[in-house]
Amino acid sequence: MAIEIKNVTYTYMKKTPYEKDALKNVSLTIDKGSFVAVAGHTGSGKSTLMQHLNGLLKPSDGQVVVDDIDINGKGSAVITAKRSVGMVFQYPEHQLFEETIFADIAFGPKNFGLDEAEITSRVQAAMEFVKLDYKKYKDMSPFALSGGQMRRVAIAGIIALQPRYLVLDEPTAGLDPQAKRDLLNNIRQLYDKGDTTVIMVSHNMDDIMGLAQRVIVLNNGEIAADGRPAEIFNKNAVLEQAGLRPPRLTQLLQKINDEVVPVKTNYTNVDAA
Ligand code: ADP
Repeated sequence: MAIEIKNVTYTYMKKTPYEKDALKNVSLTIDKGSFVAVAGHTGSGKSTLMQHLNGLLKPSDGQVVVDDIDINGKGSAVITAKRSVGMVFQYPEHQLFEETIFADIAFGPKNFGLDEAEITSRVQAAMEFVKLDYKKYKDMSPFALSGGQMRRVAIAGIIALQPRYLVLDEPTAGLDPQAKRDLLNNIRQLYDKGDTTVIMVSHNMDDIMGLAQRVIVLNNGEIAADGRPAEIFNKNAVLEQAGLRPPRLTQLLQKINDEVVPVKTNYTNVDAA
């Protein structure tokens, strides 16, 4: 079982002066049970690649195969295959719209045609999972929550679909450090349960080192590197391509160095002149 990206090219605004190959003949396999991080500069093609994983974008050329099913093909198996991939977009809380937290999380499971009892039990489990007390929060408006809590509601809505593959596009962007830690712990717990393969776009080397077994670096629509985080992070050129910030320890050492040995400059003080 795996997601296979086979020679995928994706062109935006084809046959216009703005034509852009966002993915160029990309091939890769994401095995079931893995935790994969995807890194790369803004514009390197990460979101475009993610949107191919559940058929939201259709390759201009090539194939996306989920558990042996070409998800851009025909037949009822295609729907099941697409449904096995849950997508958490950037700032997913912007997509909350229902009057209550319960209704928001139940929206996807309802669309899947599940019965009421199953929907309630999934919403309950998903809320418990993201550490939102069911009784306390279920009838509240999602808009009464803090940013971090709203993000948890949005993620619970995807978890309630019980996806076999969970795709997260920069899930911690804009969260405060505590909310960020809580969310990453949550994702880790979900992964550790063993039923979910995780594919996560991230810019943070600490997060990638702590969670992922594999990091794929995209650069200008192509795979620039693919390997274990420790291997990849040893290569400065790759880090630069990935737009990755050094891990906290490196930053800390840098800071200490900067403080102990102040950088001497020859600049004259313009203000004083
Ligand atoms: P990333 O997620 O790594 O920032 P994207 O996949 O969003 O990269 O974008 C890859 C390239 O495709 C960029 O050059 C971007 O400008 C272009 N692109 C993305 N979305 C669109 C769009 N809707 N229309 C035209 N070009 C786009």
